Amino acid sequence: MTKLIPCPLFINGEWTTVSGTATTPVHNPSDGSVIAETPQCGAGVVEEAVAAAAAAFPRWSETPPVERARLLFRLKVLLEDHFEELAQGVTQEHGKTLTEARGDVRRGLENIEYACGIPSLLMGDALENVARGIDCDSIRQPLGVVAGIAPFNFPAMVPLWMWPLAIACGNTFLLKPSEKVPLTTNRIAEFARQAGLPPGVLNVVHGGREVVDALLKHPQIKAISFVGSTKIAQYIQATGIAHGKRVQAAGGAKNSIVVMPDADVGPTATGILEGAFGCAGERCMAGSTAIMVGKAAETVLPHLVAAVTKIRVGPTDRDPAAQMGAVITRQHADRVCQLISQAEGEGAEPLTDGRNVKIGAVPQGFYVGPTILDRVAPGMITMQEEVFGPVLNVARVETLEAAIELANASPYGNGAAIFTRSGQAAREFRHRSSAGMVGINIGVPAPLAFFPFSGRHASFFGDLHLQGRDGVAFFTQQKVTTTRWFGAGEGTIWADK
Ligand code: NAD
Repeated sequence: MTKLIPCPLFINGEWTTVSGTATTPVHNPSDGSVIAETPQCGAGVVEEAVAAAAAAFPRWSETPPVERARLLFRLKVLLEDHFEELAQGVTQEHGKTLTEARGDVRRGLENIEYACGIPSLLMGDALENVARGIDCDSIRQPLGVVAGIAPFNFPAMVPLWMWPLAIACGNTFLLKPSEKVPLTTNRIAEFARQAGLPPGVLNVVHGGREVVDALLKHPQIKAISFVGSTKIAQYIQATGIAHGKRVQAAGGAKNSIVVMPDADVGPTATGILEGAFGCAGERCMAGSTAIMVGKAAETVLPHLVAAVTKIRVGPTDRDPAAQMGAVITRQHADRVCQLISQAEGEGAEPLTDGRNVKIGAVPQGFYVGPTILDRVAPGMITMQEEVFGPVLNVARVETLEAAIELANASPYGNGAAIFTRSGQAAREFRHRSSAGMVGINIGVPAPLAFFPFSGRHASFFGDLHLQGRDGVAFFTQQKVTTTRWFGAGEGTIWADK
């Protein structure tokens, strides 16, 4: 048996282990092997980490923003220096290709770069003479101890959506990464330690529901940032709010790509392919339903099918030619295949079929091949549920109107895209789409660090989104000061005239 990678907790600037807790296996999805074990922590660990974060808060919040930024610059340099190592780590614990893993780390790093601008981002407003001789200004102050809970699908990026901006704002942080991919977070926390982050400013706790509940209920935690599936996002929001916390909770998704008859065939097929099958479909911005308008199915679909049949599925950690990796667990692979079967039973026509994919060199890997299901209808299971695997629905409609209606019928509201050469159709689509992030001739319209990740409906619960100015507003509270200074003899009604 290969040696397990240690998975300690990071509390008060030190790496510690917990004994006697249950553990969850961390797999290398490429070959199914167990590479680490995540400790299932509980309330005791949270208590310890909150105490460390609370003790660090007074000094950290008084640290000038420019000094906090300087520390994040140092962290950025360290992460750049270890960029390839981090990307390889993402590939190992997640299964995505090295190119995709590099994107995961790069998008995360951009959030650190954004947070480095905190002296400007924290600036408030001021207005002179709100009344005669009276001025008013607003400043932003940190909340205190805050926490983040992350999903498995972007081991580097999603945690980095959360804590760099939060600590740049002067808060101290408890991070709980997904128990399926805890190792990238630990590696980045180690670089934060090496960059000189004071003890207690960032703490990493591990586990599942028990540790999450302890975070949600702890009276000293002021805010929770969550990214994960819709069911859990709803639970996080309801429980967090019931315990007096500010909550931002990003949930699951079901995103459509509308293809107009005038769309450029090559770029459109590529855009759909990347949208549906990039990261093996394990993306909240995956374009999981292509809505073909009129003749678009005849022109684009054959190119798409031809390209998809050539996708090389394989072990991304050892085969540099692999274009698509395994999904996160055996259980998840089975669920994806079962959803494909169910959709087929409901009348969908598989044009490519990823069930029963076996890679000879790694028979225990968690593989599902890229699957295109043609002629799906609104009620079918794969149109209703987030599959979160390499499965593309193809629906056919006759008009843009019908396409918008079908795309907007989704209870989710993360992303939606249109491929067209018509500015008028694109404008109409952007205006009427019920999704919060729209792509025009872009398959995965995921906003970068300086824009909010603006999902709607069942894809987001809360008011202020992750990333960008929304992120700064979420992790701070405003104080408005109204000021008047008196000249000699001014301001009292009893003054002698
Ligand atoms: P998940 O909801 O299963 O887990 C997310 C986090 O919640 C993990 O840290 C997990 O430990 C914790 N958790 C799981 N079950 C819990 C429970 N019963 N009680 C308390 N905590 C619990 O999500 P996942 O499978 O890790 O990630 C995939 C999901 O995340 C997909 O639905 C995807 O769309 C979504 N996602 C959304 C966005 C977005 O911006 N909207 C971004 C990335 C991923």
